[in-house]
Amino acid sequence: MKITDIRATTVTVPLEAPLRHANGCHWGRFVRTVVEVETDEGLTGLGEMGGGGESAEAVFRQMKTYLVGHDPTRLEEMRFRIANPTASLYNNRTQILAALEFACLDILGQKWGVSVSDILGGRLQTSVPFASYLFFRYPNPKDGAGEVRTAEQLVAHAREMKERYGFTSHKLKGGVFAPEYELECYRALASALDGDRFRFDPNGVWSTEQAIWFGQQIEEIRNDYLEDPVFGMAGMRRVREKVRMPLATNTVVVNFEQLAANVLDTAVDVILLDTTFWGGIRPCVKAAGVCETFQLGVAVHSSGELGIQLATMLHLGAVIPNLSFAADAHYHHLTDDIIEGGKFKYEDGSIAVPVGPGLGVRLDRDKMGEYSELYKRLGSYPYDQDPLRSGWTPTIPNNRWADPRDARRPTNILF
Ligand SMILES: [Mg+2]
Repeated sequence: MKITDIRATTVTVPLEAPLRHANGCHWGRFVRTVVEVETDEGLTGLGEMGGGGESAEAVFRQMKTYLVGHDPTRLEEMRFRIANPTASLYNNRTQILAALEFACLDILGQKWGVSVSDILGGRLQTSVPFASYLFFRYPNPKDGAGEVRTAEQLVAHAREMKERYGFTSHKLKGGVFAPEYELECYRALASALDGDRFRFDPNGVWSTEQAIWFGQQIEEIRNDYLEDPVFGMAGMRRVREKVRMPLATNTVVVNFEQLAANVLDTAVDVILLDTTFWGGIRPCVKAAGVCETFQLGVAVHSSGELGIQLATMLHLGAVIPNLSFAADAHYHHLTDDIIEGGKFKYEDGSIAVPVGPGLGVRLDRDKMGEYSELYKRLGSYPYDQDPLRSGWTPTIPNNRWADPRDARRPTNILF
């Protein structure tokens, strides 16, 4: 079998409301590049890539010169061809490799009549539990709905998510407001949903001392973990000495070099595996194996996905024996998807792993048309900018927090 073509289409799919984070905002929608890898046997594999609000179409077109004629079963050969570690100093293609690995695994599954989780060792569970992934949100620019800024709004939003989807684990994305204010919000959440489990992620923008202070304040809460309180392994190691809960990361351990360093001198307890950041589903399975050996915790990270990437997260979650926590997904903040049958459904906080051949998802051509047209109309958005804080950027550690009394609606967001 040979690859005959690689096609890439940029789509933008609306979110219920703009999601605020430590470095800026998702401006009311995600921009994703959908990749289709075609073969001489008539099989087409699907991949997906993000990119901070920007299209990645051009780079996939460029990959045709490397991969047309390549056998999609030769996944390791593909890794060295486009992401050789000694060449990556000049052109880091880890996320591009990931999207192409998804597509090749999808092709293999279709050819062999098995699902990707069958190829990866077989599923240990038929569904994957998810956490609620709560964000501070700007009001929807269209109708003003969906704002999450105050503790009361956060609790109401979390209750609604729990009612609608059945979540029993809740992640709050912080790093937007001063830590004292976010502590009040996190405490309100934990006391409103007493009996559930909680995790907090300020995306590494605190000082070590702020992180230690915050960690010590929340020790009585049923925390899964404290995620990336500071940026850098040395800081994480210092925080870990002083707080009594596991620390997790999706920023400072995202490759095997860093995983080795963390094993030799542990700074982080739980490794959040992202099928995109690690270069595919298979590297995540390998990394989970290393974590199993050294008894580190494992969970599934979300970098903002549509249904194709969500399928990769589900297959990953299904095959690793040491998935110790509910997975993260931005998915329920989306209003729609580009896959046949519409959005994946949550049941009791979990999503069933697709059973069809390959990734088990196919494209809905009408939806693809609609959301690629929307992308052409709206273009990209700056993931690392805040629509209402022109010229702002956080320092690390940050001291330029947003004002929780600021209730403006971002009217400069296109929709
Ligand atoms: Mg994180």
